[in-house]
Amino acid sequence: MNSRQQNIPIVSSDDNIPSSSNNNNISLSFDCNIHDRVSNSENNSEVTVYDSTCTIGTLSRNIEVEDMHQCYNDDNSSSEAEDDKTVEDDSIDYVEARILTEYFEKLQNHIVKDGKQGPQEYDQKHNTFWIEPPSPFFALYSGPADPKKLYYPRVFLWSPHRLVTTVLKCPNCRQKLNSKGFNTNPRAHRVVDIDSCFYIMSSRYRCTNKSCKTSLNAYDNRILEQLPLHLQAEFPAYLTHRSAVSKHLGDLLRIVMQNGMGVHRLQRALREFHTLRHSRLHLQYLNSLVHRQQYPTFHDIPHGSNPIIYKRFSSFKDPEGYAGYIPSTRYLRLMYTALIDQLRPLMDKELAILDGIILKGDHSFKVPKHMAKLGGLSAFTALYTLCDEYEEIRLQLLVPTKSTTHLEAPLKEMMNSYHLYNHQQPDLFFTDNVKGDRRLLERSLLSLKRTLHTNNNHAHNIQQSTNVDLQKHPVPFLQLPSNVSISLIQSNDQVEQAVQAI
Ligand SMILES: [Zn+2]
Repeated sequence: MNSRQQNIPIVSSDDNIPSSSNNNNISLSFDCNIHDRVSNSENNSEVTVYDSTCTIGTLSRNIEVEDMHQCYNDDNSSSEAEDDKTVEDDSIDYVEARILTEYFEKLQNHIVKDGKQGPQEYDQKHNTFWIEPPSPFFALYSGPADPKKLYYPRVFLWSPHRLVTTVLKCPNCRQKLNSKGFNTNPRAHRVVDIDSCFYIMSSRYRCTNKSCKTSLNAYDNRILEQLPLHLQAEFPAYLTHRSAVSKHLGDLLRIVMQNGMGVHRLQRALREFHTLRHSRLHLQYLNSLVHRQQYPTFHDIPHGSNPIIYKRFSSFKDPEGYAGYIPSTRYLRLMYTALIDQLRPLMDKELAILDGIILKGDHSFKVPKHMAKLGGLSAFTALYTLCDEYEEIRLQLLVPTKSTTHLEAPLKEMMNSYHLYNHQQPDLFFTDNVKGDRRLLERSLLSLKRTLHTNNNHAHNIQQSTNVDLQKHPVPFLQLPSNVSISLIQSNDQVEQAVQAI
């Protein structure tokens, strides 16, 4: 497991990856539903007093996350279609707005002037990665009124080679990488945050090995992996190929998805936040114009016969103005899948270190119904979940049939994990299909047989006292506690009376 993956932005090769290619993720929020299902089945199940020493292995899951989200998303599908129509996903065809290009070019030229010392933002006086635009009040305070000053975004300056003492190496040939300055097309990578977008202005590196010709950005995973962890932690975004979300938004995305809010509602909330910020800036600009009317500066006094004409504040999406952008639900879902994909090794690890003496397993047929179908047919018929006595999921996998053959290998891996962590072996296993599962469980979870053997001695004693045939009933009978009485109810009246007595 690579613990650093938490801090590494995600760079996928293509934003258009179909969900089926990311089919190995599962959301934690999903757990509670599974628990319900398993505990329900437990109530109806036969009780097998198997004694076991179990096994628990690594989690084996093949779940199509995107469809799982739909399963637990309470938004209706028509609103999804509506959202996808009304909010265009320009993350695919992103073209840098001219006003931004000019702004970034100015910043880059300024940084180049700083020379070998690198960006002045990195020096002791500033100690920051961020270039913040002036606050709106100050931006409008002096000079001619120009809304352009309010369109400038925050910029994250990422030139990690300036900040490490080691040499960054080419991921292909391990030769030294040289900086070739900042990217110029586009000049910065857009990142969607909670109420606005910021931009990552990154250095680009080229391999010094002439036959290699590798060239990559400073935000590439293969560069980030070479940095000290505390420097990696400064990187503020989760990236896909052409777009990105801030860590704040990415973390929020994970939380809302796992608490039933759903990607559509989050997208609407983002639309509200982003447009609200735009509206507030617009209002602030208009108020500043009113103020200028009352207290004109040199720039507000007409010279000659031409009246002063102030520029309009642009619309939210105007690429020549504010250039606002809200990601589509599709993009947010893709991002969530990518995020969970990164977290999956950690989640698997969490599951693998769980122990469980009492296990319970059952098939659920609900989830596959919500999954995408191939040629009208489901690839899977059931979701098998195995929980421990604390209702923690210990093993989970989608299976094409209810046959136990699909469970054998995962159970074996689970067993290996038990041995690896020196967990106490399972003693009991609850299932609603005792006859069907018995052979598999005894073969896979050897500790069940061991306990069974122990219990056989106990059963023998019971047999002596109750004349039960040990061959037919190798497992001891459950005995009712002494304070429980049995009454036979045969009529409706008796049922009513019994219910009244509860
Ligand atoms: Zn190279």
